[in-house]
Amino acid sequence: VTEARRFEAEYYDGRTAAKRHVQVEVEGERVRIHGASMDLDLATSELTIHPRVGSMPLRITLPGGGLLLAQADAVAQALPIPRASGLAHRLESHLGVVFASLIGVVLAAWLAYSHGIPWAARAIAFNLPASIESDIATEGLKAMDRYVLKPSELTAGRKASVTRVFAGLSDKAEGAGRDARLEFRDGNWIGANAFALPGGVVVLTDQLAVMMPDDEMVAAVLAHELGHLQYRHGTRHILQDSFAGLLSVALFGDASALTSLAVAMPTTLLHNGYSRDFEREADQYSYALLRATGRSPRLMAAALAELERSSVNNAEGCPAPKSDAPADAAPETPPKPRKPRARSDMGYLSTHPDTGDRIRAAEEAAR
Ligand SMILES: [Zn+2]
Repeated sequence: VTEARRFEAEYYDGRTAAKRHVQVEVEGERVRIHGASMDLDLATSELTIHPRVGSMPLRITLPGGGLLLAQADAVAQALPIPRASGLAHRLESHLGVVFASLIGVVLAAWLAYSHGIPWAARAIAFNLPASIESDIATEGLKAMDRYVLKPSELTAGRKASVTRVFAGLSDKAEGAGRDARLEFRDGNWIGANAFALPGGVVVLTDQLAVMMPDDEMVAAVLAHELGHLQYRHGTRHILQDSFAGLLSVALFGDASALTSLAVAMPTTLLHNGYSRDFEREADQYSYALLRATGRSPRLMAAALAELERSSVNNAEGCPAPKSDAPADAAPETPPKPRKPRARSDMGYLSTHPDTGDRIRAAEEAAR
């Protein structure tokens, strides 16, 4: 038979401010709390004994909201008092948990960076009001016109025929490409180029139009740009590129931040281009669009080969060797082996994935 241990306490019922003086008797696993007009019998496991806090009375909470306040030293004779645990103590005893959560945080940050941002950018891009995207197009084109592009000098006839080709393509495009418009510009130092601005503007430079032997090859390039529009690559690129922009849109709904970012976008695009995934997506789209307008994806392969050939020649500053040269005009030096890749710095090819890979993919798609 275990002897009862007892201490005195103040009892609060948890409903009124009334304080009652009680005796607490602990015997084995039972606790009896009795005083004037009250008698409680509880299991020790029903009590929550709080750690000591300085010299304050010890708190013991009871089921149902009751509370006992007693001298800690007196309680210690009858019941075990848990050790106070400061933050440092808790961290020490849960070092494993701390490390695990640290790893968790790093992992979550990495996932957010590699998946979350592209995912959020995609979600936002596909839900932007059309007016915001058209602002991006307007501001982006303005910036390009101010810093890079010059007015087109293509003949009215060529413009008309390329515009007809473009209209035919965008007519078969779904979504963003459908309302797109084509703008002609002299490419200035970006040379033979084509790009799509979010909001539905495709810019074609005179140099690219002139380089292509016919409008059918231009069609391949335009179909690819319509793919960039279709998948909102421009807007997604801006958002992914600018975490701050993404945040301000997501948190504050401040889509005007996008417009100011758009001003810087063309230069970003011209230097870095889109990701390989975006380019592949745009190429895949172009094959489908070419087919939908009765053309073959092979046109893309032909257009790329033409771009590659011309840019290598331009970069080397000499024309391609002519096959119809007179037989007696023997060259004084043997022909130099062609450099594997010498392209102008700012051309269309510099911002796109390996041309050889793209040509192979287009030919594969044409089969
Ligand atoms: Zn592209």
